[in-house]
Amino acid sequence: MSTATAEKPAEAHVFEADVARLLHMMVHSVYSDKDVFLRELVSNAADACEKLRYEAISTPSLLAGDPDARIMLVLDADNNRLVIEDNGIGMSRAELIEALGTIARSGTRAFMERIEASKAAEGAQLIGQFGVGFYSSFMVAERVDVASRKGGEDEAWLWSSDGKGSYEVRPLDLADAPTRGTRITLHLMEDAKDYTRRGKVEAIVKQQSGHVPVPIMLYDKPD
Ligand code: ADP
Ligand code: MG
Repeated sequence: MSTATAEKPAEAHVFEADVARLLHMMVHSVYSDKDVFLRELVSNAADACEKLRYEAISTPSLLAGDPDARIMLVLDADNNRLVIEDNGIGMSRAELIEALGTIARSGTRAFMERIEASKAAEGAQLIGQFGVGFYSSFMVAERVDVASRKGGEDEAWLWSSDGKGSYEVRPLDLADAPTRGTRITLHLMEDAKDYTRRGKVEAIVKQQSGHVPVPIMLYDKPD
């Protein structure tokens, strides 16, 4: 990260109460199939590529020299990080705050209602039944950074959280952001190191994301 970025002010935001509850439950869940986080992040990346494709029908300039949708997974074993990046539609500052700080979607609402109505132990199983989306990344990551640049915009933003009640949003130098789309960096928990292993990640992608209509590329982070 460049010095210029570090100097830019971070704004602190508090998660909506339902999100804070959901996150708490995820982190403390005994749910064993943590692999689902990858399916959720890959599915969001593919959705973002699909949204871009759709919007580009009326606004072709959005594709700006980078017309082919792709999802990149970068394995960084040395730093215990996993990166999921797409060149889809991206998120504006307002969209980051709305999409990653609140529970807007109906699936998660229904999930929360089931949780409220159930015993804590059942919560673990419910994670598997419902697609719990982006927030499932906190099952394996102690910090999640989301760098995003919306197609057609000349500003980029960094959303960052440890999942413990609040998150930060700050402007990001364009040089540190995807040219278009979203880069999610998972700072993995000590016991989630396995998700930097190519064999492991390849197997999960094959098993859970085989139907995804966007090419998924796997890279090892060069030293
Ligand atoms: P869902 O995918 O069911 O809407 P998620 O929790 O998985 O729920 O994601 C919440 C929202 O965050 C998405 O609807 C989307 O608006 C936004 N989002 C997440 N990941 C991305 C991404 N890679 N690119 C663009 N938007 C994203
Ligand atoms: Mg999703």
